[in-house]
Amino acid sequence: MAVLKVTKLGNPVLRKPCEAIPKEAIGSTELQRFIRDMIDTMHEEDGVGIAANQVGSSKQLAVIEVSDNRRYPGKPHIPLTVLINPRIVGASKKLIEDWEGCLSVNDMRGRVPRAEWVDVEAFNQKGERMKFHAEGFFARVLQHECDHLAGKVYLDRMPHLTTLSHLPEFVRFWQ
Ligand code: ZN
Repeated sequence: MAVLKVTKLGNPVLRKPCEAIPKEAIGSTELQRFIRDMIDTMHEEDGVGIAANQVGSSKQLAVIEVSDNRRYPGKPHIPLTVLINPRIVGASKKLIEDWEGCLSVNDMRGRVPRAEWVDVEAFNQKGERMKFHAEGFFARVLQHECDHLAGKVYLDRMPHLTTLSHLPEFVRFWQ
């Protein structure tokens, strides 16, 4: 097990679009180990998802999982999902606004409009092509992670910053 250091807002790696991973490289020992380290890091940090540039690697790779999460109590469970070179190929026109946070933006929450559902294409960690439909919180997390891979953070998606809240104030006034 290896827990990697999480890059924080201000680190240029978070603002640089990540590079696609060649399909042949997916089975490599090095990439498989890196995927395991990202999963360990997500668990250690109580994240519901993490993108490779959040641990300093500019690769189009993200992992998502929600079980009983301390940072997002009451959210529906999402099985462990490894996304390599993900693309959002369809999305609802309807947007839903809800709170988001980010491991790279310490102890803040803000309201972000996101598509209600998305269709995603990606490789899984075995290098198999997958296409799936996601709704609600899963769709939100997918959009958040795909944004990371494009060099964006959730703050960029907030229509205005008036809801931006420190975590204790979010818990006190809004949760
Ligand atoms: Zn994030």
